[in-house]
Amino acid sequence: MGDNTVVMVTGGTGLVGSAIKYVVENGEDPGETWVFLSSKDADLSDVHQTRAIFEKVRPTHVIHLAAIVGGLFKNLKYNLDFFRKNISINDNVLAMSHEFRVKKVVSCLSTCIFPDKTTYPIDETMIHNGPPHNSNFGYSYAKRMIDVLNKGYNQSYGSMFTAVIPTNVFGPDDNFNLEDGHVIPGLMNKAYCAKRDGTDFTIWGSGAPLRQFIYSHDLARLMIWVMREYKEIDPIILSVGEEDEVSIKDAAMSVLKAFDFKGNVVFDTTKSDGQFKKTASNKKLRQYLPEFQFTPFHQAIQETVDWFNANYATARK
Ligand code: NAP
Ligand code: GDP
Repeated sequence: MGDNTVVMVTGGTGLVGSAIKYVVENGEDPGETWVFLSSKDADLSDVHQTRAIFEKVRPTHVIHLAAIVGGLFKNLKYNLDFFRKNISINDNVLAMSHEFRVKKVVSCLSTCIFPDKTTYPIDETMIHNGPPHNSNFGYSYAKRMIDVLNKGYNQSYGSMFTAVIPTNVFGPDDNFNLEDGHVIPGLMNKAYCAKRDGTDFTIWGSGAPLRQFIYSHDLARLMIWVMREYKEIDPIILSVGEEDEVSIKDAAMSVLKAFDFKGNVVFDTTKSDGQFKKTASNKKLRQYLPEFQFTPFHQAIQETVDWFNANYATARK
């Protein structure tokens, strides 16, 4: 990479895209040009619009984030839409990356696409070993096909298309909508309202499930490293260690501490718990980057809560 590098980020306005933008704009200038796309620049589920944006930007590198994304409850409702839209977006972006001779593509999978019945910790070799959890089969199979496309483009054309596998992401610019978003932004929105209105704070489900969370700014730093340095077609899990897995209840307590919430906490066990855990190994990442420092969980929660309080009026919710 260098002076003639044009990195196009699809989904550049979302949670992960805005974190990459933040890190690029606040880091050293390596002489690369970065272009961050929203769905307003092109609907990437439409091949003609996808070709037109590649024609306009002429990227040498692509970070492909654009997707229909949601937490457990949105996935449960829209499996078909998640499958069809994401399959189209991924096929179009990789086909145009091939057509426009893009040197490298880094796409985004997720640890929630792994087999439901598995051994732990899960690692990069297990993606296709069995059916995903029933709650999000549409999203999971669409994401798994990115790995198939990456291997296929490499086999047929020698393309350098690869993917990262993050765990549950949170940070500024997340989707704080209660029905559609992930657990951390959902808990933050609920804590904000409970504190403002003097009402109870409700954790959905039992609070027992376990998750490894990654701060979007840490994920952004790692994805930029993958774009510049990682040379494998096989994907790489980007996660904190297994010892940093937390329960939903503990994550909620960290959110409440950041809000200095003193009211009642209740559980709504009529709501689904989803998958109990998806414990992932970051051994491969640690072999490459033994010294990488993740932001401590509570500090990342506090920074996100501070951002949400300061941007409540305009945040996605
Ligand atoms: P997000 O905040 O919902 O952002 C989604 C982005 O995709 C937005 O920029 C959106 O554009 C764009 N987009 C959606 N549909 C599009 C379309 N038809 N054409 C063009 N652009 C479209 O999502 P995120 O959390 O940043 O996720 C980014 C990537 O990380 C996704 O591939 C996701 O699967 C993966 N991931 C996320 C998590 C997580 O916990 N959030 C975990 C693992 C993996 P607009 O802003 O214009 O709508
Ligand atoms: P997942 O990690 O892919 O399962 O998706 P989420 O980020 O939506 O996390 C779902 C887990 O958090 C389940 O165990 C839910 O029962 C629990 N949870 C607790 N409160 C909330 C909330 O307010 N929103 C969401 N999305 N999940 C919640």
